[in-house]
Amino acid sequence: MKEALYPLKRTLRPDPPRIFQIETLLGCNLKCPACYIGSDLIDRPKEIMHFERFEEIVEKIRPYAQYVYPYMWGEPLLHKRIFDMIALVKPFAKVNISSHCQNLDAAKAERIVAAGVDDFIVSLDGLEQDTYEVYRKGGRVEKVLAAIEHLIAAKERHRSPITILVQFIVMKHNEHEVPRLKEMFKHRPVHLALKGMYVQSYEQAVQFMPSRKEYHRYTMGDGHIELIANRVRCGAAFGTFTVLVNGDVVQCCFDSSGEVKIGNIFESTVEEIWYGERALALRETFLTGRLNSVCTSLKCGMGREGEMVEATLLNRAVAQAGRAMLPVINRSPGTKELLRRVYTAVWGNA
Ligand code: SF4
Repeated sequence: MKEALYPLKRTLRPDPPRIFQIETLLGCNLKCPACYIGSDLIDRPKEIMHFERFEEIVEKIRPYAQYVYPYMWGEPLLHKRIFDMIALVKPFAKVNISSHCQNLDAAKAERIVAAGVDDFIVSLDGLEQDTYEVYRKGGRVEKVLAAIEHLIAAKERHRSPITILVQFIVMKHNEHEVPRLKEMFKHRPVHLALKGMYVQSYEQAVQFMPSRKEYHRYTMGDGHIELIANRVRCGAAFGTFTVLVNGDVVQCCFDSSGEVKIGNIFESTVEEIWYGERALALRETFLTGRLNSVCTSLKCGMGREGEMVEATLLNRAVAQAGRAMLPVINRSPGTKELLRRVYTAVWGNA
């Protein structure tokens, strides 16, 4: 997953994108209340991308892609050709799959590992049925737990380097399970990701926010919530190419309604879109500190799951190193200026 985390150069004309997110299907069979597809808040037609359309996209992204997410708003394993899609991408890029695992039996786990999926995210948001189904409405926790075992068995059988990331959204009703969760997976070949929840409203925040502040994504007060993140520094428009099921390319995966389109992959090449007028105008808004309605809405979560987990670890390490060096830096204005320049050169000037 680390490849997805390169330091981005935030300029009007950055390098071609290396991360591609492609919505191969818009639909899901669960009803998670804070998910835009689960709570039916996406008014785009619920579609499945034809395999031939995906092939067309693959031909266009092949020279650039290093990391591909063949899903966005939807459950990727519901696509009947998902394994053919993975097989198309694997020769030139790493593949990430994220699934609720309601349809993942031993045979599918075998196919996932044999297909060479690099990172597989399992959504496990409760250890008992009554905690699990508060959020994963319509799902069964025993299916997820069995799926994790199937994946581990296949990983071991194939001696596969696949990363199995068990993701747990920490909420009010399941936070007491966190110690047990850690214990459960302590000696298993999986990574654990404890994740803060995205919500759609103040009411939802009141219902779901756990007591532990480290899992809060929002500040709350007076009937309002505000995302805790510096959205002006967002890198989505500088490094990720996000394709909706109809081929529209949008500013980021949180643009679930396709509000800010920069082109259509079936009508143009990657570079025509990436360096087109609309993409340049979008980047200019970020570089001048202006945000559009998608960014300022509650939809924005500032990064996808795997990235967020890794980014959080990375940020912590950088922050710790920074804190340790602070006394030295403060004594030396020259070092301070040098660090400022390095930071600007690598991450841009927002
Ligand atoms: S909505 Fe959020 S993630 Fe998307 S471009 Fe705006 S700040 Fe970035």
